[in-house]
Amino acid sequence: MKTYDLAIIGSGPSGLMAALTAARKGISVVLFEKNEIIGRKILATGNGRCNLTNKNISVMRYHGACRKFIRSILNKFDQFQTIKFFESLGVILKEEDRGRVFPRSNQASTIVNALKHAIKESGVNTVTGLKIKSVEKSTEFIIKNENNQTFKAKKVILATGGKAAFQFGSSGDGFFWASKFGHNIVPVFAALVPVETREIWVKEVSGIKMETKITTKAGNKTIHESYGDCLFTDYGLSGTAIMTQAGKIGPLLDNNSVKIFVDLYPEITKQDLIKKITYIFKNSGSKTLVNSLAGFFPLKLAPVILHLSDICHDKKASETSETERLKIVRCIKAMKLTVKKLRPLKEAQISTGGIDTEEVDRNTLESKIIKGLYFAGEIMDVDGDSGGFNLQWAWSSGFVSGQGISLF
Ligand SMILES: Cc1cc2nc3c(=O)[nH]c(=O)nc-3n(C[C@H](O)[C@H](O)[C@H](O)COP(=O)(O)OP(=O)(O)OC[C@H]3O[C@@H](n4cnc5c(N)ncnc54)[C@H](O)[C@@H]3O)c2cc1C
Repeated sequence: MKTYDLAIIGSGPSGLMAALTAARKGISVVLFEKNEIIGRKILATGNGRCNLTNKNISVMRYHGACRKFIRSILNKFDQFQTIKFFESLGVILKEEDRGRVFPRSNQASTIVNALKHAIKESGVNTVTGLKIKSVEKSTEFIIKNENNQTFKAKKVILATGGKAAFQFGSSGDGFFWASKFGHNIVPVFAALVPVETREIWVKEVSGIKMETKITTKAGNKTIHESYGDCLFTDYGLSGTAIMTQAGKIGPLLDNNSVKIFVDLYPEITKQDLIKKITYIFKNSGSKTLVNSLAGFFPLKLAPVILHLSDICHDKKASETSETERLKIVRCIKAMKLTVKKLRPLKEAQISTGGIDTEEVDRNTLESKIIKGLYFAGEIMDVDGDSGGFNLQWAWSSGFVSGQGISLF
């Protein structure tokens, strides 16, 4: 039986980058993927457009492992190297707002096809459509798939992802093997995921999207603040500004009541909003409150705001008292909702937690416990914000692990 230099389990972005990097060094690589096709999750990224990196990558936008660890990996293959790498594969890229980079084709399949072609050219042996069911080590690594076929390799990279969006293959198998090898697994939670709220009135405004500032609090303690869109849904809240906070909310939910405060007008101070509303209401003639608020947001939101402020919605705006106007402004600037739970891992873009990076060498991504075992991608306890940060982590860590393989 042939012994490969390197076996990689998982053909997500990190596994593909690792395979290509190692194979280009002349290392013999076998790449295992349980889906029929490689890079399945990449096709779903960026709403099918693949936000593959961000020009403004910063270690501050990552969470989990210590900053030194994350910085060490990102610096070895940064966003500009990622851009050059895809351009070298013939992919035309473009930059959108907030530094986000996409293929010019607006199709994630452009990225997958480019990688597929490069992998083939580099001589990687790709085995798809079969799940790996065990990874063990004696003098070499012994890898078995669900058909009981056995493969041997001198080194192994686990690139099986986290547990988010498991419909695309990432079901946490790598955590099981790593913990059998003695690794500590930091508890895994859904992140970049919408939240369910206790308030059921959200249904009435489902579909409304606003540019907001979101503040989450556990008791009196502010957990996180973020800016961006907030989408009201049938079950609660979604949108970038909310999803960005989910990773911080999840671990707190067992022991805390977590509240979300939505500022529907973050660009105006409370005082200026009071002045504006007072002016508009005073000049509103015989208009009701609901109609007077119609210029502020999509119409369906006005009755909800009045209900939450405990003010009758068919009252004339010109007849409101100072206290009533203040109540309305308070609700607009800090609409309070209580988190019931996060939406399930299936709906999450990433998971937090994973392999404890204290046990991983930050120069090569080799395990400090098992010689010859490496990690790449989301399987490690590193997660990034929305905007291309997670794919950049996958490219960087894939590169570092592939580069880190030495056969001596
Ligand atoms: C809907 C969605 C949209 C997203 N959009 C973006 C975006 O635009 N920008 C961004 O930066 N990030 C985005 N992400 C996050 C990004 O996709 C992930 O961070 C990234 O894919 C993680 O890469 P990975 O290689 O670590 O793991 P994965 O991509 O999860 O790949 C792991 C692979 O391992 C395979 N595997 C697992 N177990 C086995 C086994 N036992 N045998 C064989 N194969 C196995 C899986 O089938 C899978 O193909 C998005 C995620 C989702 C779900």
